[in-house]
Amino acid sequence: MKTCLECGEKIVGREDKKFCSDGCRNAYNNKINKDSTNFMRNINNKLRKNYRILSELNVEGKSKTTRAKLLSKGFDFEFFTNILQTKTGNTYYFLYDQGYMLLDNDFYMLVKKDI
Ligand SMILES: [Zn+2]
Repeated sequence: MKTCLECGEKIVGREDKKFCSDGCRNAYNNKINKDSTNFMRNINNKLRKNYRILSELNVEGKSKTTRAKLLSKGFDFEFFTNILQTKTGNTYYFLYDQGYMLLDNDFYMLVKKDI
């Protein structure tokens, strides 16, 4: 016996039906859309925050900072927009046009991409 994905009521009718009514189908789909919107909003906020932190620390367009300083401002290393591998084997992580590269001893090089 199939039950409605939204309310759990038994479904009568076609075998491939997932909802007991249009109302339940709409409610279910709205919830899914809301969840993915919240998920994307949270990630966008983290990206924006990381970008703001790099922009504050890198006003010159090229500078150095430490991991501790980034973390103290709330930088989250899990979130970036793209990775750039240079021919010399360095890896830059970018937040839009602001990038960073790990140096020795927990120092970071901050760079700004010319767009
Ligand atoms: Zn239902």
